[in-house]
Amino acid sequence: MLDTFKNEAYHARMAEIINYSTTLSNFTLKILNNCAKFVQHIMPQNCILCGAGTQNSGLCTACHTHLPHHSTACCPICALPTFNSDICGRCLKKAPAFNNTHAAFTYQFPVDSLIHAFKYGGNLALSELLADYLITATSSQPKPDLIIPMPLHPARQRERGFNQSLEIARIISKKLHIPLAINLCTRIRETAPQASLTIKQRHGNVKGAFDCTGEQIQGSHIAIVDDVMTTGTTINELSRILRDQGAAEVSAWIVARAL
Ligand SMILES: [Zn+2]
Ligand SMILES: [Zn+2]
Repeated sequence: MLDTFKNEAYHARMAEIINYSTTLSNFTLKILNNCAKFVQHIMPQNCILCGAGTQNSGLCTACHTHLPHHSTACCPICALPTFNSDICGRCLKKAPAFNNTHAAFTYQFPVDSLIHAFKYGGNLALSELLADYLITATSSQPKPDLIIPMPLHPARQRERGFNQSLEIARIISKKLHIPLAINLCTRIRETAPQASLTIKQRHGNVKGAFDCTGEQIQGSHIAIVDDVMTTGTTINELSRILRDQGAAEVSAWIVARAL
């Protein structure tokens, strides 16, 4: 299997997934994605990573086994790896506004490529696969009262055609029967991509970026769904607003945690 990851055909397949439909319109993408879902239901499945035949939907057993599943020994608040699952130094020094983090994966190959294909290649069929892994990762946790997808600024959403966190949150909400709050929180300020900034700059970049109002927030346990958590600055800012508005508990439900 390790050979498979080094295999040229495997990487070509990943490039195919990533480049999939980047030149198509959002409308065409949606139609193609729906057709792909239909075909998946009626045809024998092929693993989306290695192309091998599989009875599971999405990935074959070998690819599933070798995914970078998130380690269980981690800080219960921010999900950074720690010895004995102790609270990490950063959270001890200054506790984040969110109470706990649950991540399906660490942000490594090939999960980083899958998320990239989903987010920038418009391959919406991957949303169900990623949502299912996040559902499994949170299965032993108390069910929140409400799910909120990480809001995207309207300008960014128009450009991308969809909000990747909303697509994942929608599936989780439906499968776990937890209400989804789409318009409760909005991104009121466009921010520079966090990846290009230092930790200090990241705090200033997202400060005041969100607006959340709604009676449902008061006293609720809210799960924020997002695709990737890096320093946690963005999710911390959204959590801070939710706590200010009376949320009793905020959980971060993340597809992949960057370490
Ligand atoms: Zn496979
Ligand atoms: Zn921590």
